[in-house]
Amino acid sequence: MSDLILKNCRKQSLIGGQWVNAYSGETIDVEDPASEEIIAAIPRCGADEVDAAVRAARLAFESASWSRMRPIDRGRLLESIARKIEDHADELALLESIDTGKAVAFAKMLDIPSTVEVFRYMSGWCSKMHGETLPVSFDGREYHAYTRRDPVGVVGAITPWNYPLALGAWKIASALAAGCTVVLKPAELTSLSSLRLAELCLEAGLPEGVLNVVTGYGHEVGKALALHNDVNKVTFTGSTAVGKQIAEYSLGNMKRVTLELGGKSPSIVFDDADLERVGPGAALAIFFNSGQICFAASRLLVQEKVYDQVVEAVAAAAQTFKLGNGRDADTMLGPLVSRKQQERVLDYCASGVAQGAELVTGGKRHGDKGYFVEPTVFANTNPSMKIVQEEIFGPVVSIMPFKEMDDALKLANDSIYGLAANVWTRDINKAHKMAARLEAGSVWINCHGIIDAAAPFGGFKQSGWGREVSAEGLYAYTE
Ligand code: NAD
Repeated sequence: MSDLILKNCRKQSLIGGQWVNAYSGETIDVEDPASEEIIAAIPRCGADEVDAAVRAARLAFESASWSRMRPIDRGRLLESIARKIEDHADELALLESIDTGKAVAFAKMLDIPSTVEVFRYMSGWCSKMHGETLPVSFDGREYHAYTRRDPVGVVGAITPWNYPLALGAWKIASALAAGCTVVLKPAELTSLSSLRLAELCLEAGLPEGVLNVVTGYGHEVGKALALHNDVNKVTFTGSTAVGKQIAEYSLGNMKRVTLELGGKSPSIVFDDADLERVGPGAALAIFFNSGQICFAASRLLVQEKVYDQVVEAVAAAAQTFKLGNGRDADTMLGPLVSRKQQERVLDYCASGVAQGAELVTGGKRHGDKGYFVEPTVFANTNPSMKIVQEEIFGPVVSIMPFKEMDDALKLANDSIYGLAANVWTRDINKAHKMAARLEAGSVWINCHGIIDAAAPFGGFKQSGWGREVSAEGLYAYTE
């Protein structure tokens, strides 16, 4: 089944409705991170293909078939795309698992439904975006004044490798609902599901040129897209370092910019929490998708009285997760996406030990094939350590004790990031106080990572600019 899906899936870029190779003929190898085998090759495009895709997107933006499509018909089209994805859920989940390494069961449970839902959610908005009338008067006269919501134009969308389909869909569905056209550059490590998604969009009736996908490296395709003077907005999800470059590239024509960047999110456990739930809850908050989640709760702050108990419970939970090939039915955690990422994470583990943190479990490569890293728990850490301050983007949690609520807040907010946080307590007053004072775009109470297209997502501080999905995310594609 995997071989067949891999053999038949698109391995070309999509420009103006045509499937094309890189003009140079060059390709980038695609690797299975569980077996380290080369399983496919995608075009290594460059600035010329970006230019062609932007021209196609501009033409489509100005064409009557897209710009004058009735809002209700645009909504129906997005709903058709949602249904197409649903009809191909198994295939897409498998493709996502092959390409990223993640467990196919979780791709089915999470990646595919959230991809479907954002198209369905945004389909309803197409016919409900409107401006306002304004009470303008001057010098004794009244004027008829109003605002309109117009699409921003051609959107350049750049996505990371951890949730290629779902994060791509957030951008595509919102942009299309607003009436924009899109040039998508997926991560070079995981482009296959984005190409299949684009193919399904065409099959659902999306006019040619409305969605283009250009594969290639970030410093070639991504940079050309963010620099392009005929792109009106760039929406980027990825690391903070590259996000800062995107902001600079965008200055030339003052593109609109949305940035969803890195995180170092805290889990905060008070001594009145339901400790039965905290162990598995805080463990999943960091280890899910092998820690390759922007809002992974990689710092765990625990009130002194229950500190030992929580360290033990999280370490015990970490040891129960089955690592393996994402296609095996009992796999919970797949490999990291690449050798580079595996080495990076293991370097962080070594730095934790070198800086005096207590390694409770993990810290090593798992097996001798594939880019696996054991779920790793460090206790007795402190804010001077690299593992506490820097985003690792792997299965590594740093645990710290705290005394009172103010101490927890100080530790939690001591970060350049501010993407998310979670709080474990039975005290509703404490929960609301924490939610208000935590510098984080999302705060979950007694749970973690509840993501829905209806709720805005994005970060404080260096976790980004702007919000995605929800009405707020949609309006960011309008003027
Ligand atoms: P990355 O920044 O290396 O790459 C992201 C994308 O940008 C890729 O498509 C890449 O090819 C492209 N890129 C790289 N260099 C570029 C350049 N100079 N110009 C233009 N584009 C360039 O990130 P990654 O390693 O793919 O993903 C991990 C990072 O993404 C982590 O920091 C993680 O926190 C973040 N992330 C954030 C969110 C969020 O919603 N906040 C979600 C997922 C991942």
